[in-house]
Amino acid sequence: MDDKIIITCMRAEDADPRCIIEGSTKDICQTCWKEVWISPATLKFKEEKNGEVTCFVCASKMFENDDDPKFISRTPEQQAELLKSFLNDEPDR
Ligand SMILES: [Zn+2]
Repeated sequence: MDDKIIITCMRAEDADPRCIIEGSTKDICQTCWKEVWISPATLKFKEEKNGEVTCFVCASKMFENDDDPKFISRTPEQQAELLKSFLNDEPDR
């Protein structure tokens, strides 16, 4: 079986608005067809790798059924946008 590139995203219904990265757009989980948020860098990664968008809930089920799951680390662009969103998240005091 070929290894699929699974891209895990937050389900829109479960997402904490503070955790949504600026510029994110909605996509659909290819397993349960619920809406998920996908960040710009993740979307780019998905298009480059022809990845499959999956929500966290379905992804965790897939990992349970996979005896040899492999994890791909974040791309530098994803890392940068995460960092940026954390910096914007400074609480107002
Ligand atoms: Zn799903």
